[in-house]
Amino acid sequence: MISPQDLRSPQVPAGADALAAREPVLALDLGGTRVRAAVVMPDGTVAGRREQATPLADAADAVLDACQRLLSDVRAEVAPGGEPRLIGVSCPGPLDAWNGVMLDPPNMGPTFHDVGIGERLEAALSLPVFVERDTLVAALGEAVFGAARGCRDFLYLTVSTGIGGAVVSDGHLLLGPDGTFGELGHITVDMDGEPCGCGGRGHLEALASGTGILGQARIALDGGATTVLREFAGVAGRPSARDVADAAERGDQVAASIMDRARRAFAAACVSFVDIFDPDVIVVGGAIADGQGDRLLDPARALIEATAFRLPRRRVRIEPAALGQDVGLVGAFVLATIRSPDPRWRGGRPLPG
Ligand SMILES: [Zn+2]
Repeated sequence: MISPQDLRSPQVPAGADALAAREPVLALDLGGTRVRAAVVMPDGTVAGRREQATPLADAADAVLDACQRLLSDVRAEVAPGGEPRLIGVSCPGPLDAWNGVMLDPPNMGPTFHDVGIGERLEAALSLPVFVERDTLVAALGEAVFGAARGCRDFLYLTVSTGIGGAVVSDGHLLLGPDGTFGELGHITVDMDGEPCGCGGRGHLEALASGTGILGQARIALDGGATTVLREFAGVAGRPSARDVADAAERGDQVAASIMDRARRAFAAACVSFVDIFDPDVIVVGGAIADGQGDRLLDPARALIEATAFRLPRRRVRIEPAALGQDVGLVGAFVLATIRSPDPRWRGGRPLPG
């Protein structure tokens, strides 16, 4: 028998007060460039931070070793009596979050195939481990301690190397049966547009992510365009996404048109998100969004005001993320705290259905 509660993920707490009575959590944020660990306190403060470069040149096993070592080091420094009893983990997707298994994350290299990070850390540290995709973990952090505090309906977007998304509706983080709910970067904004890394075409990520911006710069360079981008020699002799943004600011026409297209794609997608999801707020984080600030958000606000459905456009705010580099750690605290009482996320970790 399925009860209505079985159909929903645990409710996202509306604010830090709801978690104030909880315990500290040992938090891990595994990314493609850095791995961070810390103890996160119930008021969202981050203590005992440790971090290092992700040793991606080595195999997945070496990366898991680094994660385990950082967590052990952080735990060893906790004062007696205050030891965390839960571990929360943010890591790149796609992911089987029910079993704590990283499937084939595209930015982590070929050895990251079905990597059981949950089981590994649980065995090494003898604490229950709760693992979730980085964008969803960030959404949980922003929901409790950041720009979406007090909101029951919001979207989180990260505009970075790729574009990730998360949907919180009526206080519940939506997962879907496969855990892939809310991949908002793969909304189509141009049916005849550039190929996306996922195999689709004209997706938001193909136009407005760091990878997408670089891809368009490459097309312009290969086509013989006259642009200062030719003089940039970033990684692998190509301009970086930041080089393209800088060149646009300095008046380079080719770079300006790439950045303009990225902003228009982002704005068009945001109008669809407002019409489809009726959110209180769209929180936007990630390196590209942080660098662009209102140059990215203002065109979205203007297009929503001009063309989104009348009722949701009056409500919605487009806000920059508030938690910066700590978002994965703080979100991992919320993740472990809300999932630990729910038997579906403990013990044998059965797959849903
Ligand atoms: Zn795509």
